[in-house]
Amino acid sequence: MFKELHCKECGAAPKGMKQCHELFDDLLGIKYLGDGEAYRLAVACYTFQHPHSHSAKAWHYAHAYLTAFVHDNLPSKQARQEANATLHTLNPEKLELESPLLHQEIPWPHSILDFSNEVQRTPIEAAETWAHSLLQAQEEWFYKLSK
Ligand SMILES: [Zn+2]
Repeated sequence: MFKELHCKECGAAPKGMKQCHELFDDLLGIKYLGDGEAYRLAVACYTFQHPHSHSAKAWHYAHAYLTAFVHDNLPSKQARQEANATLHTLNPEKLELESPLLHQEIPWPHSILDFSNEVQRTPIEAAETWAHSLLQAQEEWFYKLSK
């Protein structure tokens, strides 16, 4: 597979003729399967990996949501409430600049391609796997940078 066809943001290979953002459009269909939590979590994972395709605010929300869900082990709905509260405490400069830039070099082991290829598990299980994988990659990356 030609590297230039891979997503510039998350590094995912295309699936057939579909690019990352098209798989994301497909993902919107999950919403109508009645699994709202899986949908919300998957959207947060996607947003976290694509800071340039989203507003800084959306990215920080996704980051806070995933952190509360994975690290604080909160149920998805509560993690979202936590993320909303976090957003109100961030100043605009921090929202604009800081974190997305620090994340753009992370070699993500999991993408929307993996999520979309997941057939064994339910949407919520697949979304949880994605979320955990992203925060683990983030942690390992910052650990490596700190050495
Ligand atoms: Zn991508």
